[in-house]
Amino acid sequence: MSEGISQSDQPVTREGDGGQDLFSKFDDLIQTRETLLAGGVEDPFNLVMEKVLSPTRAICNGRDTILLGTYNYMGMTFDPDVVDAGKQALADFGAGTTGSRVLNGTYQGHKEVEEALKDFYAMDHAMVFSTGYQANLGIISTIAGKGDYIVLDIDSHASIWDGCALGNAEVVPFKHNDIEALEKRLRRIPKGAGKLVVLEGVYSMLGDVAPLKEMVAVAKKYGAMVLVDEAHSMGFIGENGRGVCEEQGVIDDCDFIIGTFSKSVGTVGGFCVSNHPKFEIMRLVCRPYVFTASLPPSVVATAAVSIRKLMHGADKRAHLWQNSKRLHGGLKDLGFQLGTEEPQSAIVAVIMPDLERGAAMWEALLHEGLYVNLARPPATPANMTLLRCSLCAEHSDEEVETILGMFERAGKKIGIIES
Ligand code: PMP
Repeated sequence: MSEGISQSDQPVTREGDGGQDLFSKFDDLIQTRETLLAGGVEDPFNLVMEKVLSPTRAICNGRDTILLGTYNYMGMTFDPDVVDAGKQALADFGAGTTGSRVLNGTYQGHKEVEEALKDFYAMDHAMVFSTGYQANLGIISTIAGKGDYIVLDIDSHASIWDGCALGNAEVVPFKHNDIEALEKRLRRIPKGAGKLVVLEGVYSMLGDVAPLKEMVAVAKKYGAMVLVDEAHSMGFIGENGRGVCEEQGVIDDCDFIIGTFSKSVGTVGGFCVSNHPKFEIMRLVCRPYVFTASLPPSVVATAAVSIRKLMHGADKRAHLWQNSKRLHGGLKDLGFQLGTEEPQSAIVAVIMPDLERGAAMWEALLHEGLYVNLARPPATPANMTLLRCSLCAEHSDEEVETILGMFERAGKKIGIIES
């Protein structure tokens, strides 16, 4: 055995050979976290839900808490038909597939959920991944190869950036939601090169919507293929809940739509839908699809039922819009600074002056009985600290009013808004 490799449980000492502790790169983050927690605040990134009562309520630290940071937009997690389908599949097919989709991991349920997605989007092909993260990772890294170009919004989700990093294409970012910047980048790419433009329907940090109509037109003008991640709009935005692409009338011009089961669908998993005639070859060449185990039968069964119910979710969509508008308007009236001037999605981002006050406000809200997401750089644009709220169709009108009261009291206590 070579020197430095230990067979015992003792850590290998690096003294003497000048080697570095590989954890030293995290020292700044460790320090920031320790300083924050030394101030006595609860750890905002380690909350435990001891019991989940419904899509909008849980017991956290022994307290009945309203959930306003779950992305459970359509409240499908406790839908009785969805839960029943999961139980039945667990009984009929067992706990897991123990295999990849291309070997022993394709069950009837995987085909059924792909059929449900094709019907939901009215598209020819649907491919299910184990998470939305893997869907982006897989499709982006596989479709754009050496010599190709990926042109993407600078505020893209980590899974999109990681998809770029996994592949061999040239990566060209452009300024967030800036149509001219997109065109400028596309104009500079050599004629004839393969191009993929990657966009999101709703950007999850600020809850703002992309100008897809214009951006997709620009992409097509330069002969680029288009991928749109509709993680935060599926089920909610658009007449049939197909997302911002549907709302802005460009769904037929999108080559790939990526989505997740972990938000409106209410379970876990990811997918890509497409009308491209050669799409099915992806099942053989896409490594994050091939080299991982498929979703458990109970998960795909819940997803299939949920997706089919979302096709008839117009009333829920209307109520979610009503909730989003009321929360956005109410917070604005109280004097909070928000991520968007007008409500654009079911995400309402409240901008905090700094991390310390953001964490204090997060904790004050938790003590009031409200859970929201604390988001900080590098996940956020422009170094912002945000309290991100995501509404649910199952929040009642009264709950939204209660939430506003909680924000008012906490905001005054921490000094975010005037008393
Ligand atoms: N894309 C976007 C825009 C997301 O926000 C997320 C998750 N927050 C994902 C993809 C990944 O989805 P999943 O949770 O299914 O991995």
